Amino acid sequence: MDQKKSAKPRVVIIGGGFGGLELAKNLKNAPVDVLLLDKHNYHTFQPLLYQVAAGSIAADSIGFPIRRIFTKQDNFRFALAEVQQIHPETNTLTTNIGTIYYDYLIIATGSNTNFFGNKEIEHFAMPMKNIPEALNLRSLILQNLEMSLVTDEPQEKAALMTFVVVGGGPTGVELSGALAEMRQLILMKDYHGLRKHNMKVYLVEGKAELLAAFSAGASAKAKKFLEDMDVTIHNSAHVQSYDGVQLKIDDGTTILTRNVLWAAGVKGEMPEGLPATNITKGNRIQVDEISRVNGYANVFSIGDVAAMITPDTPNGHPGVAPAAMQQGEWLAKNLIRIINNQPTVPFKYKDKGSLATIGRNKAVADLGKLHFQGFFAWLLWGFVHLMTLAGFTNKGTVFLSWAINYFSKNSDNRLIVRYFDIKTRMTDPESK
Ligand SMILES: Cc1cc2nc3c(=O)[nH]c(=O)nc-3n(C[C@H](O)[C@H](O)[C@H](O)COP(=O)(O)OP(=O)(O)OC[C@H]3O[C@@H](n4cnc5c(N)ncnc54)[C@H](O)[C@@H]3O)c2cc1C
Repeated sequence: MDQKKSAKPRVVIIGGGFGGLELAKNLKNAPVDVLLLDKHNYHTFQPLLYQVAAGSIAADSIGFPIRRIFTKQDNFRFALAEVQQIHPETNTLTTNIGTIYYDYLIIATGSNTNFFGNKEIEHFAMPMKNIPEALNLRSLILQNLEMSLVTDEPQEKAALMTFVVVGGGPTGVELSGALAEMRQLILMKDYHGLRKHNMKVYLVEGKAELLAAFSAGASAKAKKFLEDMDVTIHNSAHVQSYDGVQLKIDDGTTILTRNVLWAAGVKGEMPEGLPATNITKGNRIQVDEISRVNGYANVFSIGDVAAMITPDTPNGHPGVAPAAMQQGEWLAKNLIRIINNQPTVPFKYKDKGSLATIGRNKAVADLGKLHFQGFFAWLLWGFVHLMTLAGFTNKGTVFLSWAINYFSKNSDNRLIVRYFDIKTRMTDPESK
């Protein structure tokens, strides 16, 4: 990889997620060379991962090739590279494709699943942060339903048909709703021999309510929607252990299950190289009001991995796509100001509201002072997600899948194309 300084300053962005992409796009007319590095050659639309896992939509429809987004941007280059180490003292990065030089560095590496140090849970529970993990989860769900059809042993059959979602934020709520809907609409239609009442769906949440970041009305309604769909909810409850079949909760409950879906926490993900003093709660990089990493003039961080701690935001901004995108756009403007020796402008977050869907015709929406739930919230959720999805083809494919699923009350994306072995945590597309 070229290490030489180019004539224009080189802005290197690690991560082609919501933040990194927005930053690169907004540098289109800036007097800089942009180099975006990502370990995947595509951008992932994480809000719809759960629909891939539940077999509602195709995996390809929520990914988009990063190069394709920038076809018309002359100052943009992409490299498929995993950054292993940052060297702020020499303005270089160690990557799996060699050393890379930067003038300005932006760390936009997002977050990863947090198992809070519990190795046993990490081994047996299923995370869902990227497309391969969502496909593993889809395989596990479908494999276990198949297995339950041919298993005679009653306890094992019950464990195969029991699904426990851990974490009652938007991802956990959406996932448990999707599983309950699968049971309601698909199970008896396509899995002859299985009974609805034998498939159990549990949702375990540490806080006293679901969707804790939403309004009280939205939290209560989401709970009611899920209870009406026969999801058993354990609030103020924490998973203590899971050994692959027995899940123990600190409210005294033990559940036999072969399916534990972990949506209970995230932590910042970043290459090594920054001192521990730059890392704050949630393994996030502490930055100032212009996203600059404390102590470095030319290193910045945005999105989920960054914590902009100010008197107004003592915990940083929420780990959501709009925050990452707004920080990316804002930082592009500030970088241009810095290069032109102009004063920078502190970041201001515009909270546009929160949406979560529970199932068909069921969603909750908090838009400023406006709170509503049900069909219109569900329509709005669908519209907002379609509009934010990258690529015209993806928008069309997802819309078509939703329409077909809605009217057929079924879905066609339930292929086990990669057999997932929970013991080894390996996938084997050839063996089955
Ligand atoms: C299941 C799920 C559902 C969600 N639902 C919603 C929702 O409904 N609404 C909402 O607003 N938000 C939602 N979020 C959160 C939202 O997706 C994140 O806030 C957003 O993706 C953060 O953007 P980002 O740019 O910081 O990081 P990401 O979008 O996570 O991008 C980080 C990028 O960095 C790359 N990367 C990481 N490490 C390296 C490395 N060492 N070298 C090279 N590349 C690297 C990754 O491959 C990735 O492409 C959801 C998240 C998940 C997981």
